[in-house]
Amino acid sequence: MIVLRILKECLLTCNYKERNQMIIAWFSCGVTSAVACKIALSLYNDVHLYYIETGSGHPDNSRFLSDCEKWYGQPIHTIRSDKYANVEDVLTKKRYINGSTGAACTFELKKQVRYKLEKELGSWDGQVWGFDYDPKEINRAIRLKQQYPDTKPLFPLIEKHITKPDAMGMLWKAGIEIPAMYKMGYNNNNCIGCVKGGMGYWNKIRKDFPEVFNQMAQIERNVGATCLKDKDGRIFLDELPTWRGNPVEEIIPDCSFICQIEFQEILDRQVEQVLKGEISINDVD
Ligand code: SF4
Repeated sequence: MIVLRILKECLLTCNYKERNQMIIAWFSCGVTSAVACKIALSLYNDVHLYYIETGSGHPDNSRFLSDCEKWYGQPIHTIRSDKYANVEDVLTKKRYINGSTGAACTFELKKQVRYKLEKELGSWDGQVWGFDYDPKEINRAIRLKQQYPDTKPLFPLIEKHITKPDAMGMLWKAGIEIPAMYKMGYNNNNCIGCVKGGMGYWNKIRKDFPEVFNQMAQIERNVGATCLKDKDGRIFLDELPTWRGNPVEEIIPDCSFICQIEFQEILDRQVEQVLKGEISINDVD
């Protein structure tokens, strides 16, 4: 029983002082964050679970969140922007989609909401993130730690060597159905019609959620910006050839609450050391 083994290990390796720390655990309706929250609850006594509602996720998310609350035996607090209702609202009002400083929707619907909560809480001993045990995810975790040390990030899945398929298996063993977007073949549970998606992703959205595709195509025209670009420049969704891109090969990172993690495409030298077990994710600098 992998779940029991991991939870037992967590309890054994955690001392009294750690257990009494105040921890924020970010639940995103993704499979990895769901398991990271479960592990956090086994490690610490004072864990506060938070979910940021963007208003643009799949309706099945509320079922998944409620199943996980039962699994945790604890409520997940849902917080959201008090300025914007959803992704469409942000892009239309800000007249901006995505760029070098990150996506407008991540900034307004996630980062600003997280800032507000952090201000209200004042202090914490750690924030639990659902990055899993995969070279790219380890790299993102290292970059996050380097760029946002004040969040005091914790990555229990990397520490315990838990991959995304492992997390799915753990949910299956707990009797929790994974969120609908994974079942439809998406590699994460970002908003439906994520502005960070590639050409294959958008062609899949065109088939699975035609109304979302058409709405985003209209927004692009209204604001004069695009989600997609290639070497020749911008590609408006209403001009995207149906044959372009491959949704299976395109891996869009989960939309974290950090707006833009710089250098996430460049592997830090410490990734290999973490993978080889030479250092812990907690020891990277
Ligand atoms: S998941 Fe995608 S669409 Fe939703 S807030 Fe994040 S970047 Fe924007």
